[in-house]
Amino acid sequence: MDVPPPAPLPGPWAAPAAELAEAGPEVLAWAVRYLAGVADQPVLSTVAPGWVRAQLPEHPPAVPEGWDEILADLDRVVVPGTSHWQSPGWYAYFQSNSSAPAVLAEALITTLGTQGMLWQTGPACTELETLVLDWLAEMLGLPSAFRSDGAGGGVIQDSASSSTLVATLAARDRARRAGARLDDLVAYTSADAHSSVEKGLRVAGLLSEQLRSVPVDAARAVRPDLLVDAMAADVTDGRVPFLVVATVGTTSTHGMDPLAPMGDAARAHGAWFHVDAAHAGAAALVAEHRWIHDGLDGADSYVMDPHKWLFTAMDCSALWVADRQPLVDALSITPEYLRNPASGSGRVVDYRHWQVPLGRRFRALKLWAVIRRFGSDGLAAAVDGHIDLARDLARRLAADDRFVLPVPTPLNLLCVAHRGGDEATEALLGALNATGRVFVSHTRIDGRYLLRISVGQTATTAAHTDELWDLIDRLAPPP
Ligand code: PLP
Repeated sequence: MDVPPPAPLPGPWAAPAAELAEAGPEVLAWAVRYLAGVADQPVLSTVAPGWVRAQLPEHPPAVPEGWDEILADLDRVVVPGTSHWQSPGWYAYFQSNSSAPAVLAEALITTLGTQGMLWQTGPACTELETLVLDWLAEMLGLPSAFRSDGAGGGVIQDSASSSTLVATLAARDRARRAGARLDDLVAYTSADAHSSVEKGLRVAGLLSEQLRSVPVDAARAVRPDLLVDAMAADVTDGRVPFLVVATVGTTSTHGMDPLAPMGDAARAHGAWFHVDAAHAGAAALVAEHRWIHDGLDGADSYVMDPHKWLFTAMDCSALWVADRQPLVDALSITPEYLRNPASGSGRVVDYRHWQVPLGRRFRALKLWAVIRRFGSDGLAAAVDGHIDLARDLARRLAADDRFVLPVPTPLNLLCVAHRGGDEATEALLGALNATGRVFVSHTRIDGRYLLRISVGQTATTAAHTDELWDLIDRLAPPP
């Protein structure tokens, strides 16, 4: 008996193009309104834990709701429950700056809905990624070994943490293939390195004790002499140095590790040399700041996050390797259902071999759109502008006898303490954030509490940093 096919249900699944045509302008208008007014929102959300959930129904709707109802809940619940990373008053942690090209490209990425696990499942997704990372390597002046026309190449990951993880997996397997035992492997990084280095090691099956924290100097840069000593001591003890991770712009203070001697030390022991420039790397768009990459030629891998300071928004982390083979060797498994003639021909890249997950988004489209809409000069000018604003603020703070800047301000992140001590600095942080106009965060260096001010939001201008200075001036107690 012939069973008639079920009638299509009315709703977005049945007519996505019609829904886009009808609701798209309304949703876009919401986005325009949000961005036009975001500077007037309290930067840090003031809602109490549990408030957001308490505003929303406990059970999902059984029947379709309209976009007007969804947008109303954005205004009623999501906006108050949001800490506004896109506010020009965002100075906390680091930035995650978005832009109109990134917003629009995200919509296009989801429209295409590509899952680019294989070249075959997304030739444009794959080839655009290779191209756009060659473009970015050129814009940042990266060593030619990272370009895709040799043994190396670039890949987009979801985060710097994942980028560092896959570099660690490649380093681990290279060392094990050379005969080292997992228990004997040792990695080295700055005492100020990001926690993702240790997390990556743990995910790779090593213990935290297999990571050596190398002391830093007064400018918070790794002491290469102490790195050399630590590696020699481990070798004497029968251990195998397999990974050295340098940071260009540490999270706390933007300390700049000396890449050349760290790379030399890694090479002397056959260890992998990975460079983490997650936040600061974007500064190399500007010729004047390209010194941050001095010595990068010796690196096996390098990561910087366009989703931090390159107007691309979460998520887009760019990882380059000088030789892709160890990465592919570490991560490649090919079940029958993924075999296909293109992959078999050896003429295409399958980026699934360069990352932990199988599936992958078409993130390259977003980076491509950002680079095309800004142009490389436009991106460099925007980043340079942020650095100028940060340095101007640092100059004003340094000239005021209430404050001390205990570490240099090489780029867009400045650290400052009140001379009255930790309590005064902490009170200033609280007072600034309580205004709702700005959000700054803190760190602790050698036991001292410091305000961290990171200047890099898309909409932040001199008027905004002037306002921040006025607030600091007004709210900071005398020395
Ligand atoms: N590395 C450095 C130097 C960072 O500053 C950060 C962010 O704090 C990270 C890594 C982690 O970045 P992601 O969130 O992309 O994993």
